[in-house]
Amino acid sequence: IYKWHYSGLNRWHGAGSTADFQKIIQERCDTYTQTIRPGSRSRNCQAIRQAFMSAFISKDPCKATKEDYNSLINLAPPTVPCGQQVFWSKTKELAHEYAKRRRLMTLEDTLLGYLADGLRWCGEPGSSDLNIWSCPDWRKDCRTNYVSVFWEVLSERFAESACNTVRVVLNGSLENAFDSMSIFGRVEAPNLRPQVELEAWLVHDTGKPPSDSCSGSSIRKLKSILDGRNVKFRCMDNLSRDQFLQRS
Ligand code: NAD
Repeated sequence: IYKWHYSGLNRWHGAGSTADFQKIIQERCDTYTQTIRPGSRSRNCQAIRQAFMSAFISKDPCKATKEDYNSLINLAPPTVPCGQQVFWSKTKELAHEYAKRRRLMTLEDTLLGYLADGLRWCGEPGSSDLNIWSCPDWRKDCRTNYVSVFWEVLSERFAESACNTVRVVLNGSLENAFDSMSIFGRVEAPNLRPQVELEAWLVHDTGKPPSDSCSGSSIRKLKSILDGRNVKFRCMDNLSRDQFLQRS
């Protein structure tokens, strides 16, 4: 039992791959390309599903590299029209609501972001199946797991493609609205191109006072990352959720 537990499919600390992963990817891809963005360049959903599977199937689930996802990302780069990008950190639901109302786009509004949002996946050397029993947890097992590396490389490409003015929705109810260890902090902000302008919105829970502001130390840290890259920065704070959605 001991040996099986530590060498078998159950050895990781995270939940296993999402049931019916392939079917969900195929169905979401069909929905996205036919219904959500029918105007977008026609994409081959079967090829996208196959490229997604080839990225991680039969591989050590703790040895993901950015290169593993090259062919997948080249089939559907996460680029959006100039000035329409919305980044978020600890504000997922709010940022999506905001983007929807303003016809702007988060990473989850691009094809690959839409396909993978909320899913889990990992493989196993010597097997052509997904491991549905357990997958590496990014804190307890390894950072270089296939889900983390996927979001990092997709977020990096999304940020690199930003132009004109883009926005980030940050959580003003946290002590540090900007978290330098988050994907926005580690991957997106440091990959914005010079001359892009980033507008940060600090939004707090309605009915509570804010816990962080544009003059706090976490936002100063964000500003210094952007200064180093010649990215312009504006910051708006003290907005409740309702004010933000109505007025911004
Ligand atoms: P966040 O801290 O709110 O995290 C977003 C989600 O990603 C959370 O569920 C968190 O647990 C998970 N996460 C964060 N770092 C991770 C890692 N290294 N490995 C596995 N899961 C991780 O916000 P964030 O970290 O700043 O990420 C949000 C930004 O990055 C957005 O702008 C978005 O473009 C992109 N992103 C999206 C997703 C997604 O699931 N849709 C995940 C990561 C990053």
